[in-house]
Amino acid sequence: MGGCGSGRRYRYSTKGTLDASSRLDIRYLKKQGMLRSGYYSLSWNRNGQPSGNVNIRIVADESMTVTYRWRINSIDEWQSKEQVVSLAHTACAYGGSRPWFVCPYCSRRVAIVVVNGEHVACRHCLKLTYASCNEDTIDRSWRVRDKIKARLGGDDKSLYLKPKGMHQRTWERLRWQYRNAEWQGLDWLESRMEALKGMIG
Ligand SMILES: [Zn+2]
Repeated sequence: MGGCGSGRRYRYSTKGTLDASSRLDIRYLKKQGMLRSGYYSLSWNRNGQPSGNVNIRIVADESMTVTYRWRINSIDEWQSKEQVVSLAHTACAYGGSRPWFVCPYCSRRVAIVVVNGEHVACRHCLKLTYASCNEDTIDRSWRVRDKIKARLGGDDKSLYLKPKGMHQRTWERLRWQYRNAEWQGLDWLESRMEALKGMIG
């Protein structure tokens, strides 16, 4: 299992400029007084080196807009990305309330969202991209991918151009799922090839 996990981390470190562990913890933001309306800058370090930064804009009790730059690899152009994450509150039994992020992809209430390349999402959603190390993974990945493609209208064009009549959000979700499925398959292939390479020696 360890091999698959590390393959995934490697993939992310090459896919986006921000570390896979670039997380935003709402409890930390609260502690820092950053849930009041305003603009804030956040950065991460890994092994003492800066590993990423984002700007956030908070509209108190309503939303957090995360702005950052990312690129697929070092020769690609930087792209600006802006993602709105809604905020929610639940009442505590002994008074006061507890703040949550609402994951933009699954609408779960979560304390932590992860800034991961193109997406800001909860760990449940990002876990979709972890390849499991079993032999069915690749079949399943391709099956899922083909199913999503069919829903997109069946041709490659719909991955880049929104099909007529489809909701923007639906399209974005499907595209994201498509890519996840593809990555899962590729990840599996990658780990498989590593294993084969080892065997051939
Ligand atoms: Zn989610």
